[in-house]
Amino acid sequence: MDVAAVRRDFPILQQTVNGHPLVYLDNAATSQKPRPVIEAIRHYYETYNANVHRGVHTLGTKATEAYELAREKVARFIHAPSAEQVIFTRGTTESINMIAYGFARPRLGPGDEIVTTAAEHHSNLVPWQQVARATGAALKFIPLQPDGTISLDDVRRTVTPATKLVAIAHVSNVLGTIHPVREIAEIAHAAGAVVVVDGAQSVPHLPTDVQAMDCDFLAFSGHKMCGPTGIGVLYGKRKWLDEMEPTYFGGEMIDVVELHQSTWKETPWKFEGGTPIIAGAIALGVAVDYLTGIGMEAIRQHDRALTAYALERLRRVEGITVYGPARAEQRGGLVTFNLEGVHPHDLATVLDAEGIAIRAGHHCCQPLMRWLGVPATARASFYLYNTEQDIDALVNALQTAKEFFH
Ligand code: PLP
Repeated sequence: MDVAAVRRDFPILQQTVNGHPLVYLDNAATSQKPRPVIEAIRHYYETYNANVHRGVHTLGTKATEAYELAREKVARFIHAPSAEQVIFTRGTTESINMIAYGFARPRLGPGDEIVTTAAEHHSNLVPWQQVARATGAALKFIPLQPDGTISLDDVRRTVTPATKLVAIAHVSNVLGTIHPVREIAEIAHAAGAVVVVDGAQSVPHLPTDVQAMDCDFLAFSGHKMCGPTGIGVLYGKRKWLDEMEPTYFGGEMIDVVELHQSTWKETPWKFEGGTPIIAGAIALGVAVDYLTGIGMEAIRQHDRALTAYALERLRRVEGITVYGPARAEQRGGLVTFNLEGVHPHDLATVLDAEGIAIRAGHHCCQPLMRWLGVPATARASFYLYNTEQDIDALVNALQTAKEFFH
């Protein structure tokens, strides 16, 4: 992978922040956008902006074709059996809520169980709390090992015949842990449960094959994978999507409307009520082309090499605690840590003065912060345009911060 060439594709990286070259290490929050993605949005609005699935005029047809082509690109990217199994949403949060409302609520009741972990992003926890409240189902948690991984024996012990749904992130946005979703799906399916995979941190970083994973649903966000904000995806197995209720009712999603009742279009269009996020979907298709052009395997290797380098360098800084699995092979491209005696917000502020963007806080994982026994952490997260020099800049700035605070 030619990282210098990749960096030239991202205009935002060519700037200084607070007098220093920008070192962007907040990719788990959102990634930057390459020129072709930005251009795709501009091109749509400048040359063929029109609503989709309605007009017979030329622009409408062109917009519809581009929108549906984006669906095909995303389907190929995740190895979905068909493009109809890709639903465009606003992002991971909306995708998971749609499963919670349209699939889980009508099916679950008292005595049923939803299994998840204490390491989930709030987006993959709070919707299930709400389902449990509304249906009387119980929430159960697969225990975490001291390094944040989970053991398959614990999965087998937690999943029972009463389990109807297992919801888990493929990659944790705090610990970086890569969970064995294929094996978890096998255990869940043997118990008769469906598996919802939160792919927000995995789809942008790992080659994704929903058929090999055998997940029932996969949710992810375009903005973390070089696409724009406001667009995301819900993938589902055909039989579930066909059975599942839409969440939004109104224009675009209907087949026949009468005064007292209506019927819906087929999957996936029945889930896309109202004018969809047309420019966002088209640009996500271009982001997928961009990532595919570089190669997801190459991106994974790059993330892994940077993570290994960051782990090694950070562990040598006295007073730094790194959370999560010990080896880069077990992790996505991020490192979460604390510097003894310094609040992560103060740390992030000091780093920002040197042009280094990291995330500090609870990372939308308050239960996990409690499990770690800290109020907050700092997180550096990597992507295809980051370099070892970025990590050197981080570590040097941490040394300076140490001197400053002590
Ligand atoms: N799940 C995980 C693991 C995440 O990291 C995130 C975003 O940080 C989300 C879900 C929510 O994604 P979005 O805010 O794009 O809906």
